[in-house]
Amino acid sequence: MAESRVCLDCGKPLNGRKDKKFCDDACRNNHNNKLNSDDSIYVKKVNSILKKNRKILQELIPTEGKITVMEKKLKDAEFNFSFYTNEYITKTGTLYRFCYEYGYLKLEENRYMLVKREG
Ligand SMILES: [Zn+2]
Repeated sequence: MAESRVCLDCGKPLNGRKDKKFCDDACRNNHNNKLNSDDSIYVKKVNSILKKNRKILQELIPTEGKITVMEKKLKDAEFNFSFYTNEYITKTGTLYRFCYEYGYLKLEENRYMLVKREG
């Protein structure tokens, strides 16, 4: 019994290699483009905010890995405090928020300590 396989993009029957999923590169590209555009606008928006946050931190943090800045400096750069990739709480209960490998810790008097995660 012949197994009938169809192109994942256009649905036409496929001939040839068993692992073939598309008629040709055009169908493959078309399918991939559709997948990408299915990424919701919200996901794209959040990703771009996180990337922007990361870039802001990256540009402020010196290579040695630590700096204290005023909140205003972050706000002026349009840093978005509502979005971060993860939180880290130290044994002493200090909360760091990270955007990828760059993190920040709120200090007193509207200051923030910016850090880079090691390794
Ligand atoms: Zn096709």
